[in-house]
Amino acid sequence: MRVPGHVLVVGAGIAGFTVVDELRRQGFPGIITLVGEEEEDPYDRPALSKQVLSRAWAPARSTIATRQTLEGLGVDLILGAPAVSLDIGRRSVTMGDGREICADEIVIATGSHAVVPPWAPLGPRVQVLRTLHDSLSLSQTLGKCRQLAIIGSGVLGLEVAATAKTLGVSDVTVLGTSEPMQHVLGQAVSARLRAAHEEQGVRFELGEKVIAVSASPGRSQRQLRVHRREGHTKADTVVIAVGARASVGWLAASRLPIGRDGVLVDRRGRVVPGIHAAGEVCAWPDLGGQLRRVEHRTTAAEQARAVAWDLLGGDVSYEMIPFWWSDQYGLRLQGYGTTGGGREEFIIAGTLAGSSFAVAYGDGRRVTGVVGLNAAKATRTARELVSSGHAWPPHISQARDVNRA
Ligand SMILES: Cc1cc2nc3c(=O)[nH]c(=O)nc-3n(C[C@H](O)[C@H](O)[C@H](O)COP(=O)(O)OP(=O)(O)OC[C@H]3O[C@@H](n4cnc5c(N)ncnc54)[C@H](O)[C@@H]3O)c2cc1C
Repeated sequence: MRVPGHVLVVGAGIAGFTVVDELRRQGFPGIITLVGEEEEDPYDRPALSKQVLSRAWAPARSTIATRQTLEGLGVDLILGAPAVSLDIGRRSVTMGDGREICADEIVIATGSHAVVPPWAPLGPRVQVLRTLHDSLSLSQTLGKCRQLAIIGSGVLGLEVAATAKTLGVSDVTVLGTSEPMQHVLGQAVSARLRAAHEEQGVRFELGEKVIAVSASPGRSQRQLRVHRREGHTKADTVVIAVGARASVGWLAASRLPIGRDGVLVDRRGRVVPGIHAAGEVCAWPDLGGQLRRVEHRTTAAEQARAVAWDLLGGDVSYEMIPFWWSDQYGLRLQGYGTTGGGREEFIIAGTLAGSSFAVAYGDGRRVTGVVGLNAAKATRTARELVSSGHAWPPHISQARDVNRA
């Protein structure tokens, strides 16, 4: 592949920024344009449900790079401007104001947006959490909140529950169709996490879908009701954390290969000649070759680095092994590889009841993933077993089965 003269990156989150940064680190001398629809300097999202939401950090601590830093990197920065379409033939992107930007190579890094169910009446007391604006707005609301209902028992819902408790919200209920983070943690670790939340006073109402959120009839409009088919939960604030979808709406007319999980790419992030994608907007092949869209900060940056190397003609393909972390109260969870989902689960360090443990997951033949709780070292050590596609080692089979621990 010839090194391009002009690279246009659409989306100024961690993936978009990392492409730009890595290109310059590797000495790319050409023109770089970075386009983002949000007004703010590019920022990181993990603190939005933790330190920014709890006001432990000023929002600026989440900034990835200021305008000055990007200018220093020689980047033409266009913020507060959404891209609205992409033309493969012309290798160009059209902006909301009608401007067309042509380039030799285009990188799609438009991430995701929060899912808003049709029954959700969004407003100051019914919110989602995806952007810095969402986090600051929710933080204000939580300051006055007494009764919080969180719809969604995945990682985001649980982080919001933990932060709300830290802020002193007395009544916090998590509603969801399944046990907390069960699809990634498996049953036993999920139960351990649920117990940690319950110790802090969080209540769970699980197993039933939410079908509506409404104001309580005949009461002050401050009271909301979260309806399930059987019964309802009262709240003064509702957070909807039911997932995110790849932001591909602007590509609808492009004829790019786009699946349920976003833009389809190969191990170099290539979509079609002249177009790459990285981060949450795309589905990237995992170790087993299965295309997967993952919602993890480190993985988005690793994909972006791989795209930059490919643009520079490097012969490197990135074998994606998802890595994530989550902070809830003083607990740091870390996950690597493919976990949960009915796999074999064995404790490889600590005990489930203790304050620190690591669990390995397997598919009968090999180690597919590991999850640690306050166990950075054990988790790091086990990562080697996952990345090498190691056969399920005898010392792990002799370890304790989580469901009997
Ligand atoms: C509240 C929260 C907490 C999180 N915590 C963790 C955590 O603890 N650990 C972890 O591993 N991961 C965490 N994540 C996930 C992690 O932040 C994401 O995986 C990461 O942000 C993905 O980066 P990205 O650049 O692909 O997408 P994004 O961060 O979504 O960035 C995409 C950017 O593109 C812009 N854009 C979208 N459409 C257009 C358009 N048409 N034109 C121009 N620009 C556009 C968007 O406005 C956005 O700025 C968290 C996510 C959230 C929301």
